[in-house]
Amino acid sequence: MLLSVGHDLPYLTGYHAMPLERLTMLVVGRDGVSTMIVPRLEVPRVVEQPGVFTIVAWNETDNPVALVAKHLGNARTIAVGDQMWARFLVELLPLVPNARFVRAVDVVGGLRMAKDKAEIAALAAAGAAADRVAAQLHAGQIPLVGRTEAQVSADISARLLAEGHDVVNFAIVAAGENAASPHHHPGSRVIAKDEIVLCDFGGTMNGYCSDITRCVVTGEIPRDIAEAYDVLFAAQAAGVAAGRVGASCEGVDRVARDVIAAAGFGEYFVHRTGHGIGMEAHEEPYMVSGNTLPIAAGHAFSVEPGIYIPGKWGMRLEDIVVATDAGPVSMNSADHRLVSVRA
Ligand code: ZN
Ligand code: ZN
Ligand code: ZN
Repeated sequence: MLLSVGHDLPYLTGYHAMPLERLTMLVVGRDGVSTMIVPRLEVPRVVEQPGVFTIVAWNETDNPVALVAKHLGNARTIAVGDQMWARFLVELLPLVPNARFVRAVDVVGGLRMAKDKAEIAALAAAGAAADRVAAQLHAGQIPLVGRTEAQVSADISARLLAEGHDVVNFAIVAAGENAASPHHHPGSRVIAKDEIVLCDFGGTMNGYCSDITRCVVTGEIPRDIAEAYDVLFAAQAAGVAAGRVGASCEGVDRVARDVIAAAGFGEYFVHRTGHGIGMEAHEEPYMVSGNTLPIAAGHAFSVEPGIYIPGKWGMRLEDIVVATDAGPVSMNSADHRLVSVRA
């Protein structure tokens, strides 16, 4: 297995390779012998792990890809990390002409999906920090009317950091008709009174991610939006309840989708119900039709159905959930209702 840029490498070794053109590659053999091939100038940043891997440094004029090929020996099946630069793989291909390539997720995906106690604690801490920002939004402490989406996004980002996140991964703020685009990029649109504002934000705290979506209305909640939100609320709660050990990932999607479809909004729920989360904001397992993977204790994932009416409005409600033997446990407890705010 070859791991470079991406999260499989730090998951296994504690070392984050800088996303640079200089090659860093962990070569993990079937026999468990692992070699970390790193640029000499990065060696001081690598914390040695005796018994886990040995370090091989390469100099600026060496060919690091050839070094990788040498350590591969006559490996016939090579698993590569999803985020390895294509250039390294392209340069490696002619050096190992008889090898078959598979994705490293086949090797480490199961390990990364099942969060242990410390990982769940980190997800809970990140979730609680995101909840505190959501509470500020609900309390009207984040000014909305008269500000642009981009300004509110910057405000939310600053608050995520103030609440303990190390980095902000995204802070979607989408007002009115812009909320109908699930991954709207917050821009120059000024937020007005009496409209829905969708806020989907998260970051990384002690290596683990938060991700939460709450919607508020700047004033009176229009009746059609209130009615649709009741449906969304029920769909999200049903999806969370379905996240039980032994149930299937696609089952979580199905129960949430069924609630929305039964209310006549089926065609307006245009994405899967959720994604796994951990060191990455989006990782295995995905709550999507076709994924028959059984949910296991320690699986952490979002449950985030949405309803998007093009040109009018959109809404989404998202929590992070961890499956446990005692049932699904939410990492988020911020108010799930559509709150009217004077802000
Ligand atoms: Zn998303
Ligand atoms: Zn989100
Ligand atoms: Zn999400």
